[in-house]
Amino acid sequence: MIFRQLFEPVSSTYTYVLGCEDTGQAVLIDPVISATDRDLAELARLDLQLAFTLDTHIHADHITAALELKKQTGCRIAGPAIDKLPCTDVGIEEGVPFIVGSLQFTPLHTPGHTDGHFAYLLADRLFSGDALLIDGCGRTDFQNGSADDLFHSVRNKLFTLPDDTLVYPGHDYSGRRVSTIAQEKQRNPRLGEAITLERFREIMAELNLPYPAFIDHAVPGNRQCGVCPPDLTDNFRRYCEQVEHSPQG
Ligand code: FE
Repeated sequence: MIFRQLFEPVSSTYTYVLGCEDTGQAVLIDPVISATDRDLAELARLDLQLAFTLDTHIHADHITAALELKKQTGCRIAGPAIDKLPCTDVGIEEGVPFIVGSLQFTPLHTPGHTDGHFAYLLADRLFSGDALLIDGCGRTDFQNGSADDLFHSVRNKLFTLPDDTLVYPGHDYSGRRVSTIAQEKQRNPRLGEAITLERFREIMAELNLPYPAFIDHAVPGNRQCGVCPPDLTDNFRRYCEQVEHSPQG
């Protein structure tokens, strides 16, 4: 398996390149539209053919590159079936492995950050999206988010994975790149094993996060698999300025 972790600094988003060494096919998890050229250059450098983009959820903080990458490479778009996006070519469902060459992803429905959120397990690596961040988690106050659902998703689903499963998050705002299930169980200040559901509800209710700066543009754009708002189409710089200083998972 070929693996790369790429960081988009404006929205602090990690994009993951997974490549099959047998077929040369690749999957990009959570690509960001403003980093399309970077991703294409990385795929070319690795001599990989993009087969699929694979989003974990409908993002509120950045625009997915799914549609742009499809236009430029002819790849297909995969994402949670539960979101019912007409632009999705393959709807991901729990219990149905997502297979690309020798890569076999196990989709895990992990609602709470959004109701349609999925994490993806590939061998000993968990791509946790915004359900489980390193020492944190995505916010639960928009897009049918729910603290109770997120607690259940992480504690009763992700934390049943082997302790040494590597956790690769959808974002990190402090430069951390990878964790493990054991580490998150032990020291995640929101969702670690010492925290009760009642306490988690309080923690999430007390965050007092600002209204997401880009959500009103990003969600409609991402429901079309990555269409920039008309006034921003030719100006990603302005888009970037809008989401800067807005860590929100
Ligand atoms: Fe998110």
